[in-house]
Amino acid sequence: MSSENLELIIGWLYPTLMSTYGDRGNVITIQRRAQWRGYNVQVVALDQNSTDADIQAVDIIVGGGAQDRQQEIVMRDLQGAKADAMRDKIENGTPGVFTCGSPQLLGKYYEPALGQRIEGLGILDLVSVHPGENTQRCIGNLVIEVTASRLAQELEDMTGSKPYLVGFENHGGRTKLGKVEALGRVVYGLGNNGEDGTEGAFYQNAIATYSHGPLLPKNPFVADWLIQTALRLKYQEHISLSPLDDSLALQARSAMLHRLKVSLPNPAIAKV
Ligand code: GLN
Repeated sequence: MSSENLELIIGWLYPTLMSTYGDRGNVITIQRRAQWRGYNVQVVALDQNSTDADIQAVDIIVGGGAQDRQQEIVMRDLQGAKADAMRDKIENGTPGVFTCGSPQLLGKYYEPALGQRIEGLGILDLVSVHPGENTQRCIGNLVIEVTASRLAQELEDMTGSKPYLVGFENHGGRTKLGKVEALGRVVYGLGNNGEDGTEGAFYQNAIATYSHGPLLPKNPFVADWLIQTALRLKYQEHISLSPLDDSLALQARSAMLHRLKVSLPNPAIAKV
């Protein structure tokens, strides 16, 4: 099947409320990397004007960070049939990348610095608590090794090297994982809570992370994993992506790793 006949629909969660820290870069990265390979791409906002059918129709979901107040507004809207549609999509393996405030909402609950607990969708077995306005936020560069076993293997198959992600975190909430698998282990930075060395979560094909950066421009192989996973699920064919020139992203990663004095066993990133 030629790529011009194939289409990907990216669903972007509440773009005006949840894209606080440049997370829009994740949407653009998926869009452009798919278009460069000749796929048709549509980006649709999933927000207050959307229905559950709009959520059901997307192939990849991207959710960014938000401030506590915005998270509350989103959770008031994401109820009933819309909440069920999100649950369905993730349970059925729709790939997605969810950053910071978004995983807090996909978890069981988030307790903001001020005000009432915000109930989450309960899709991810995790809870997040902001210890209060006088507690230091977790801010800074972040490097993690992906340890979620299937994802780590699939990324390694795509790139030929162990997957490390470079990003930037900025959150007050601390997340504790229940039975859900961590996305990775912290190599540099604080991650889920600054205590247990875990970062993010991985469930079905949903990547949850505190890493802004934004994540995908700095780690383009993750964008390719999302695209490939979405295409395979949608078209039920073993679609593989053609390679792109990632030398600039590779240089940016090396510069950051060098600055942070993190040396990785094998920093190569792209062979897709
Ligand atoms: N409001 C949440 C927190 O401070 C999420 C922040 C974010 O999405 N960057 O933990």
